[in-house]
Amino acid sequence: MHCPFCNAADTKVIDSRLATEGVQVRRRRECISCGERFTTYESAELSLPRVVKSDGNRERFDEEKIRSGLIKALEKRPVSSDAIDHIASQITKRLMSEGVREIPSSQLGEWVMDALRELDQVAYVRFASVYRSFQDVNAFREEIERLVQVTTAAK
Ligand SMILES: [Zn+2]
Repeated sequence: MHCPFCNAADTKVIDSRLATEGVQVRRRRECISCGERFTTYESAELSLPRVVKSDGNRERFDEEKIRSGLIKALEKRPVSSDAIDHIASQITKRLMSEGVREIPSSQLGEWVMDALRELDQVAYVRFASVYRSFQDVNAFREEIERLVQVTTAAK
C-alpha cells in the first residue's frame, strides 16, 4: 500500500500480529522511500447485505428480528431457546456467505421456513400462514398437504 507520508508505492511489512482477539491483523509497515513507519489494521469484511422489503424499502439486516419471528412461531412449542438462537445465527451466517449487497426479505422468510419445517411443523405452519398470508383456505390446505407429503416421503 502507498505510504501515507510521501505517497511512495512501496512499503514493507516489518511486523505482523493478531489484534482485537484475533479478529484483526495489525501490521507495522515501513516506507522504502522515506523510512517513515505506520500501522495498518486488516479485518475481514463481513458486512451484511441490506434487506429489500416487499414495498421496495431497504433496511439493515437485524438478527433480532429473525429471532423474534422464530419465538413467535414457536410459542408454547417444545423447542429450546438454544435451538432458536442456533437457527437465527445460521441464517446470519448464510447471509454473510451469500456475498450479496442486497437480499429480498422474501428470501429470508424462505430460509426461516426451511429451518422451521425441519424443527417443528406446527411452528412452520404458523409462520408460513402469517408469512405467506394465505389468500384463502385452499391455499392454506395446499400448503398443509404439501407438508404432509414431504413428511411422508421423509419416513
Ligand atoms: Zn514514505
